[in-house]
Amino acid sequence: MIESRLFISESTEDTERLAGMIAGLLGPNDLLTLEGDLGAGKTTFTKALAACLGVRETVNSPTFTIMKEYAGRLPFYHMDAYRIESEEEEFGLDEYFQSGGVTVIEWASRISDQLPEERFDLVLTYTGPDSREIELTARGKRCTERLKEITET
Ligand code: ADP
Ligand code: MG
Repeated sequence: MIESRLFISESTEDTERLAGMIAGLLGPNDLLTLEGDLGAGKTTFTKALAACLGVRETVNSPTFTIMKEYAGRLPFYHMDAYRIESEEEEFGLDEYFQSGGVTVIEWASRISDQLPEERFDLVLTYTGPDSREIELTARGKRCTERLKEITET
């Protein structure tokens, strides 16, 4: 099961508002992956998403640590798979998906075979200095149903 929505963002604030909407889709044990070139807005999006999930601490790119944990209304885990040396490396990710938190993984395609089937994937594409195309794909029964609920009203 798969369901996609395409959003056009015309500003940083548009992207932040979209993060607020997506925060409403996410609950305990959910995974959201982020893909997009440098400057596409992954960090901008993640900071806004974390704030909407009640994280007060500043969220930065987890450059030196692969996974960073923050306290929000739920635990918030931010992972960057970009620097992973080997895709064979096992991260015991299941532990995160069963811990009641929300997990965001940047460059998740590098570890695609370690990802659960139930998840949201977000792809940000640069289309101009202030504009981005942002495609949200829900995978699996639980996630697709939630996306339909929130967008078909
Ligand atoms: P990434 O983490 O993907 O490398 P960043 O979020 O760090 O990207 O950087 C995106 C930059 O683009 C920020 O400076 C942001 O203000 C700017 N920007 C301009 N327009 C947008 C938009 N519509 N959505 C997101 N970011 C935008
Ligand atoms: Mg970034």
